[in-house]
Amino acid sequence: MPYTLTWLPDILKKAGLKVAQVDGWEERGVSEMGTVLGILCHHTATQKPGNMPSLNTLINGRTGLKGPLAQLGLGRDGTFYIVAAGKCNHAGVGIWQGISNGNTHFIGIEAENTGLADDFPWPEVQLDAYYRGVAAILKHIGKDASFCAGHKEYALPKGRKPDPDLNMDEFRKKVADILNGVTDPPVLIPAVEPDGGAGRPTIKRGDNNDFVKIIQAKLDMEPDGNFGPKTEAAVRAFQRNHQLVPDGIVGPKCWKVFDSIS
Ligand SMILES: [Zn+2]
Repeated sequence: MPYTLTWLPDILKKAGLKVAQVDGWEERGVSEMGTVLGILCHHTATQKPGNMPSLNTLINGRTGLKGPLAQLGLGRDGTFYIVAAGKCNHAGVGIWQGISNGNTHFIGIEAENTGLADDFPWPEVQLDAYYRGVAAILKHIGKDASFCAGHKEYALPKGRKPDPDLNMDEFRKKVADILNGVTDPPVLIPAVEPDGGAGRPTIKRGDNNDFVKIIQAKLDMEPDGNFGPKTEAAVRAFQRNHQLVPDGIVGPKCWKVFDSIS
């Protein structure tokens, strides 16, 4: 029987976020969740590479701690992975806003980050999704930004947990701005280049056409027209080298930069 947090994908999608539902998530949980009163933010501390290398651990747990370890995983590209609709083992001993049974009352979000210098600063696209996802959940449960805590703020004794490697006062300010309507809506990538452009479609993983061949040729790859993981990784690297958001998607901005190289 499904657990109660089945509303998670809908509210995240409505906030304009990318969502990946992990098989079996609706029936996954240690047990049923209590009333949701807030959110605990974590980072995974898993080694690179990959977008969400911790996913299996979040589902299955690790030695000494039974899974699932969080309701949500947040990949480096800003995708929310819906892992569980029930209670998860993420909080441990602690207190925030007078609430001490964290697993029962707080949704856990595990964002992919090593917590080390090799992963700082966080990708802009991932941080933006983190703020927006937290805001969407808080709005749904009728709470303000003060009901979102970092695991390091909740955990007792003090210093037991270092995650997430973020300034949580700044984090809550960003979340509050979204809840107060101060922040612009997310920039969605248009499906085709706007008027004045060449009218090329936005190209992403799974596409198979002549536009993919053009992109692959620009990336010095074998142009087979099939946009798979290798092409996506090459696009991300290209975007990083050209100060674009490394989302692996070739939209109007990325096409323009491709045009500027021979
Ligand atoms: Zn944590």
